[in-house]
Amino acid sequence: AENYVYKCTNALNRKASLNSEHIRHVSRLYSELNRHSRSLNAKRHARSLLGELIRKHAEMHDEQAKQAALQEAKNIKDELAGMEATFTRLERELLKLALAIPNDTHPSSPLGPEDAAITLASHGPACIPASPSRDHLLVAKKLKLINVEDAANTTGNSWYFLTNEGALLELALTNYAMFVAMKHGFQPTTTPDVVRSDIAERCGFQPRDNAQQSYHLQSTSPSSPELILAGTAEIPLAGMFADRIFPHRTLPKKVVGLGHAFRAEAGARGADTRGLYRVHQFSKLELFVVTKADKSEAAMEEMRRVQESILIGLDIPLRVLDMPTEVLGASAYRKYDIEAWMPGRGSWGEVASLSNCTDYQARRLHIRYQEEQDHQNVCAHTLNGTAAAIPRLIVALIENGVEFDEAGEPVAISLPAVLKPYWLGTSSQDTV
Ligand code: AMP
Repeated sequence: AENYVYKCTNALNRKASLNSEHIRHVSRLYSELNRHSRSLNAKRHARSLLGELIRKHAEMHDEQAKQAALQEAKNIKDELAGMEATFTRLERELLKLALAIPNDTHPSSPLGPEDAAITLASHGPACIPASPSRDHLLVAKKLKLINVEDAANTTGNSWYFLTNEGALLELALTNYAMFVAMKHGFQPTTTPDVVRSDIAERCGFQPRDNAQQSYHLQSTSPSSPELILAGTAEIPLAGMFADRIFPHRTLPKKVVGLGHAFRAEAGARGADTRGLYRVHQFSKLELFVVTKADKSEAAMEEMRRVQESILIGLDIPLRVLDMPTEVLGASAYRKYDIEAWMPGRGSWGEVASLSNCTDYQARRLHIRYQEEQDHQNVCAHTLNGTAAAIPRLIVALIENGVEFDEAGEPVAISLPAVLKPYWLGTSSQDTV
């Protein structure tokens, strides 16, 4: 009952659209599924015993007993088919309804909407004054770092070609962030950009109910699974660990995955959709960690240090925020965002996000480990965080680093020193 009151209050705090009856129904379904699972296992056991019996009757040439056992085995097979279908139906229904129940919330997460976020730390240089002449799109067009016109003809609005040093900047940022993550023990990975929609659901996204936000692919055959373009490499990285039981000593698993994120961003309008700030496709390097249940809070702090170390190297003003309940999404127990000052936009813009999903995704994806003491299999905890979301880093680098000539025209962007080892450009200057 105590848990039930917590779940209801928590759903209210997180503005999750569900009522108390929904939570009761999930709880009933869960018990029913467990009961059904026990009967199913007992029936499977009975079938395997019958198999042995049939073999014994055959060895003893007892044809009559063998035929009776064979008939019984056929009946059990039919019963099992029905029970398995019921199990799948119950599990699907439970998954769908349970997805609407958000994860529990860390006691320190602030209550309320986005503006209730608490600033945990600030880094980097002081903010330079806002100025429209620093607008990243204006500057990037002038310096031929971007081509949005041809992208609009090729694909549509909010798609882009990065060109010349713009393209090289993406490569340098990607390799730099990959290198820092690897230095912190993360295993380099490239991820599939297409994922099964049920894996996305098990991660806490709702591509079916929220069809407007994902790109759905046409099935190649009626029996093939429903596929979507991944909104984030978190989904394939979580899928990589699904249906596994890890020996406790092999945790934590730490990977850094490079993929493309596809976001339909239906309904997004205004300044955000200018240039690179809110686009439909972007390269993103994602940190993903699987830990033991008692280690996820420490892992979150470690991942935050990796993110800070990547971003501080870029020499832009930063702030780290502890995000409030109403913007945690379904899966996060706690979420930190890192924002960069963008003087051309005249505002702070989110450049990275970090979520501790505790066992929310692991329960749905069956990611478990064997406990050291009692050898029980328990759910792991999963965490995900942005190592580098390329377009917004380019926005921040351009708007903070643009240099002007005497006539006030943009002539170059100063490059942070950390990118130089990864820079493929011919210029030996500190600028692009
Ligand atoms: P999210 O997975 O939504 O937490 O996003 C991770 C990071 O990706 C954000 O912190 C942004 O830097 C970046 N990002 C999210 N959506 C977009 C978008 N539509 N266009 C460009 N960058 C984005």
